[in-house]
Amino acid sequence: MGFTCPNIDGTVAKGGCIYCENESFSPNLSKEHKVFKLNPYLTENPHIDKQLLQLESQYNRYKKRLAKKFGAKKFIVYFQSFTNTYAPFSTLSALYEKALELPDAIGISIGTRSDCISNEVLDFLRLKKDEGKEIWIEYGVQSAFNETLNAINRGHDFENAALWIKKTKEAGLNVCVHLIFGLPNETQEMMLQSVQSVIDLHVDAIKFHSLYVTKHTKLARDFKNGLFVPISEELYLDTLIKAIKMLPSNIALQRITAGVQDDTLLAPMWCYDSHMQKNRAKEALKKAGLEY
Ligand code: SF4
Repeated sequence: MGFTCPNIDGTVAKGGCIYCENESFSPNLSKEHKVFKLNPYLTENPHIDKQLLQLESQYNRYKKRLAKKFGAKKFIVYFQSFTNTYAPFSTLSALYEKALELPDAIGISIGTRSDCISNEVLDFLRLKKDEGKEIWIEYGVQSAFNETLNAINRGHDFENAALWIKKTKEAGLNVCVHLIFGLPNETQEMMLQSVQSVIDLHVDAIKFHSLYVTKHTKLARDFKNGLFVPISEELYLDTLIKAIKMLPSNIALQRITAGVQDDTLLAPMWCYDSHMQKNRAKEALKKAGLEY
């Protein structure tokens, strides 16, 4: 789609979050992806027609696959990679509008950063919601502790996340937040405090995963230099169970694990096979009297 991130292109910071695999850490990636990149300051987007076609063809591909695998009939279009509100408003509105018009699409879910959303975008999405569409904004919050957010080079603080979550809720939109367990120097008590902090913001859904190290990242350097020790599966699962028990029934749990099943994963190796990982997590939840 051509999205990048203000935490990578130097607008907020360079290099991105320390766990983000991007061209700052892999010159080959930048060669491979030497393509047009969006940002909100562009006066025109010469690639919009191509992007709209790309959106449609990706949708059709995934729709077919999910319909075959799960018998799905209705779909929410997920704008997942990088920061999907980091583009001129005309580009964003064209892409979101197109997604909402695709056959059997009942809504959209937009992954972004809390320092990269505007009242203009929220107003536009509020209108779509009023027309009966299901609209989700997914904010990468990761931790409620500013010292952690600094350590991972997040580029915004927790107060910024709280402010925009509140504004998004006031616009009547659904909010899903992402939290990571195992961030540098975080204790289990801190991880659970982050869970409580987002519960207190009345979010609608949460996605959890553990911090894992992939090759082309700043975290990979820290890991190789012994400066970062990944969370164990035992501690992750114990934290996950405690976190789930804290969730009120009106907060949906949208993800309990994540992994990378290729040779870019450096550590921890228990994150390699996300299918097996999910099975082990489900088993642990079952033992704790929880179902997922
Ligand atoms: S916000 Fe997302 S895309 Fe941007 S640097 Fe962090 S992980 Fe990468």
